[in-house]
Amino acid sequence: MAIYNSILETIGRTPIVKLNRIAPKHVSVYVKVESFNPGGSVKDRLALSVVLDAEAKGLLKPGDTIAECTSGNVGIALAMVAAARGYRFVAIMADSYSMERRKLIRAYGGKIILFPAELGSSGGNKIADELAQKYGWFRARQFDNPANPAFHRETTAAEILSDFAGKRLDFFVTGFGTTGTLTGVGQMLKLARPHVRIVATEPENAAVLSGKPWAIHQIQGWAPNFVPSVLDKNVIDHLMTINEVVGRDTARRLAAEEGIFAGISAGATLASALKVAETAEEGSVLLVMLPDTGERYLSTFLMEGTNEGSDDDWLASQNSEIGAS
Ligand code: PMP
Repeated sequence: MAIYNSILETIGRTPIVKLNRIAPKHVSVYVKVESFNPGGSVKDRLALSVVLDAEAKGLLKPGDTIAECTSGNVGIALAMVAAARGYRFVAIMADSYSMERRKLIRAYGGKIILFPAELGSSGGNKIADELAQKYGWFRARQFDNPANPAFHRETTAAEILSDFAGKRLDFFVTGFGTTGTLTGVGQMLKLARPHVRIVATEPENAAVLSGKPWAIHQIQGWAPNFVPSVLDKNVIDHLMTINEVVGRDTARRLAAEEGIFAGISAGATLASALKVAETAEEGSVLLVMLPDTGERYLSTFLMEGTNEGSDDDWLASQNSEIGAS
């Protein structure tokens, strides 16, 4: 613990935590909990890197407007970084993303322009380009900006290498949106720990890297409808798909059985890792990325069907447990 000069200094250095109840006994499963970032997600890293890079290149001056087409987490992160460093921020966002995301961006003083989800990220990026051109806004370009994977090489990967120095690590499991995490961490692990298998996972109903057609899916933050230019395909040892309901249910289990409330993509990544674990040899060690907090999805299918009233049925069931009527 320390005293910081800005909230932005608290980005990164997220904890790696062992799962004690969900993991099968023959392996060890660790999770990197990105909700410990001040903006609640892994995307704080991207936002800070893009802004620092643009400042260094003289592309941003105080009071300028930053614009980005975002699934939400980048918008929240950029809104936070913009607030802390004296910029304005506009998110261009599909209308299918959760209400929490819109409210958080507005809490940080950001603006939001919605577009129909059917247009996909490629359509949203076109709108963002046109608006930025017209109004002179700075585009973060998370899907193409080399500062994105670069920051994951320098921070996320460096943290993993340092935390696992001298320790066994067999699998690194991650999903992808921009592929910044996959590419950046994958490249560094390939250099420093070449025997670590890099597992990339995508929604089974939008498995673009697996060559399947894209469809609107519920794993917010994953799988845009195109292959991002920052992707380094060479880092992927194993590409797999996961069902979004299985991912959602795994996120619920992670909260209820391990006390870690993470988002839908985190649940989907963990569900993928548990599949990898099924055939992994005795003693294998897996590291799983958990990109954000579950609190970002309280209005979505993550919490669908959960009781919002009093747990009277549960209380009644307690009578039979104590033998009362
Ligand atoms: N999960 C969530 C919830 C995200 O917001 C993102 C970023 N879009 C990712 C996963 C994927 O991270 P990356 O962009 O580094 O591939």
